[in-house]
Amino acid sequence: MAIRRRAALGGTVNVHVHIAATTWEAHAVNADPAAQRRLLDLAAVDAELTRAAHRRRSLPELVEVERADESLQSARDSVVAAETAVSDLDRDIHKLEAEIEQVRTREDRDRGLLDSGSISSGKQLEDLQHELATLRRRQTVLEDELLEVMERREATAADLERGRVELIDIEQRRLDAVRRRDEALADVASIEEHGALERRVLIGELPADLVSLYERIRARNGTGAALVREGRCGACRLELDRTAIGHLRDAASNEVVRCEECGVVLVRTAESGLSTPSDLSAESGR
Ligand SMILES: [Zn+2]
Repeated sequence: MAIRRRAALGGTVNVHVHIAATTWEAHAVNADPAAQRRLLDLAAVDAELTRAAHRRRSLPELVEVERADESLQSARDSVVAAETAVSDLDRDIHKLEAEIEQVRTREDRDRGLLDSGSISSGKQLEDLQHELATLRRRQTVLEDELLEVMERREATAADLERGRVELIDIEQRRLDAVRRRDEALADVASIEEHGALERRVLIGELPADLVSLYERIRARNGTGAALVREGRCGACRLELDRTAIGHLRDAASNEVVRCEECGVVLVRTAESGLSTPSDLSAESGR
């Protein structure tokens, strides 16, 4: 029989707990004290599994990889932009070089004509000299432009080189974060695997009705069973009053007692701060 001492707690009991507890109290569970103590092992395994699940969701490496992915995208975009700029400038350089070459060819031809002495007409000579002067001015303009474009290309190529170095660095940092994330996930998976195995073994050993009660409580408040230690519930930490302690002490050792505050199965051992009743000191005290 589960103990009823709601009044002793001065009406602080949560209504939800009250209803659920009443439902369960209709089928009071009894279990060997050793099985009750074994329930604490199950609660410890479940607490570890809960911590592992939380760790899996909150790994700092998850954020690190996500940030590295963003940086990587932005660095790749910068490199592509710089590569495009360099290639555009290379195209401009080739165009200018070709134009300069054309102007030079024309100058060479004109100078050849002038030097050949084949032009006798003064008007023709004047036109040719005028054209040569124009070509030389054009060449100077084109060469200045070429110089300017080459300087821009040099600066852009330097940006591209820095961008590539940065990209390699970010890729390395991302790989490093991925490796650490995978190691942490493998660690969590190993804890979960081990916990699941331990859980199966413990459940196989424990009485089915006790496990069923435990699971229902755990589904509701996250913890299914706790040790009573120094007069406190190990789950909600509530200090049990004198009446509650009295009930715990007087309840038969095989009676499954629940915390009035949080509903967990309260497991009594020598650490519980209850004056040693004879039935707690005997392992097979049923
Ligand atoms: Zn409690």
